Amino acid sequence: MNRIFSNLDQNELDFQSEVTEYCANEIEPHVENIEQGKMDIFDVIKPMGKKRYIGTSYPEEYGGLNKSLKHELILDEAISYHSLPVGLSRWCSIYPASLILNFNKTEKLGKYIESLCKGEKIGCFCFTEPDAGSDLSRMKTIYEKDEANSELILNGEKRFITNGSIADVLVVYGRNGACIVESKWQGVEVIEEYQLMGLHGLHLGHLKFNNVHIPQENVLFYQEIATDSTGKKKGGKTLAISSMQQFLSVERVTLSVQTLSVARRAIEVAIDYSREREQFKKSISEFEGISFKIAHMVTNYEAGRALLEKAVNNINDGYLAAMAKLFVCQNSYKICDEAIQILGGIGYTNKYPVERYARDVRLYRIGGGTDEIMQYIIQKGVYRK
Ligand SMILES: Cc1cc2nc3c(=O)[nH]c(=O)nc-3n(C[C@H](O)[C@H](O)[C@H](O)COP(=O)(O)OP(=O)(O)OC[C@H]3O[C@@H](n4cnc5c(N)ncnc54)[C@H](O)[C@@H]3O)c2cc1C
Repeated sequence: MNRIFSNLDQNELDFQSEVTEYCANEIEPHVENIEQGKMDIFDVIKPMGKKRYIGTSYPEEYGGLNKSLKHELILDEAISYHSLPVGLSRWCSIYPASLILNFNKTEKLGKYIESLCKGEKIGCFCFTEPDAGSDLSRMKTIYEKDEANSELILNGEKRFITNGSIADVLVVYGRNGACIVESKWQGVEVIEEYQLMGLHGLHLGHLKFNNVHIPQENVLFYQEIATDSTGKKKGGKTLAISSMQQFLSVERVTLSVQTLSVARRAIEVAIDYSREREQFKKSISEFEGISFKIAHMVTNYEAGRALLEKAVNNINDGYLAAMAKLFVCQNSYKICDEAIQILGGIGYTNKYPVERYARDVRLYRIGGGTDEIMQYIIQKGVYRK
């Protein structure tokens, strides 16, 4: 099966071989232990820092490799082929560093980038709240100035935060700003770690912030919330909330690469099994009921690759990123489900990994924007044209 990206240059091909070998040796042997809760996911992720695979696209001075987005996605593909929770967790851990760079705050906050790239600290990003999922304009988390006007005070709640229950460095978005918050600061509380259908090993947290004091240097940006004529603070979408949208295309293509890599592996397992399994005195691959399923799976995989490559080559086009995410994440789930069908009863057991693939990729139709929200973005693009 073809890898996701075509036309790679020699440098990209060399990087692909390097990370493919690393992931086969350093991730694959631990997948079952992570799945069964016998090993922590960060026992696999932290050593990647030594190889500079956590901050691949970050500057070398901070412990990165200064590589391109394409390299970053090649690595995402290689990791997720073995373990989707490792792929997702690694990507979320470095997220605060991307915002520090984007807001040009490296002078004061560069120390966080370095510790995240090196795997010394674990990061996470906090957008979602109990009352604000798809509709982030309902966010209640807020930053207010303290009496001396020297610090900001953070209050609010965030849920479904990948790495949230164990992270050291958090980027927390509020209605009127975003700050880098340390989990050891007074007032940061982990309420719960969720049990998940798939992606076992992921530390998905629900967090509460009770009067957390934020030093000025940790503020990425802050804006007073506008008031109406009666002096009441205005609701709805703020500048802070709109500013998040600029990061969403990269997030959506990254998630799509991760999930499509799992779909490739599911197809490979299904092809191998269908060749070997005999019923009615024939290999089941000789029944069109099976081989036509493979035809569909491979066609959807190839169509997903094409759309995804187009979205990556036009990374600022949110409309294309939404289309790629919708198509790839829906079809990756269908591909994994069909792989279970091809394996029959044994596919439904943990003797083969396809049931895990289906449980893992299912999240991707929800996280990073649901299928329905992707459709909303796409139709908006259609009617605007
Ligand atoms: C495993 C996991 C990891 C996650 N990691 C993170 C993370 O690291 N950081 C973070 O901030 N968040 C994270 N999330 C949150 C994730 O992004 C949200 O779950 C997602 O955006 C959906 O929000 P919601 O769950 O509140 O669903 P809701 O927004 O309540 O949606 C419920 C249903 O209503 C539909 N719906 C909503 N609005 C519309 C509409 N206008 N038209 C049609 N249908 C609509 C949705 O599509 C969905 O089907 C994670 C979630 C999970 C499960």
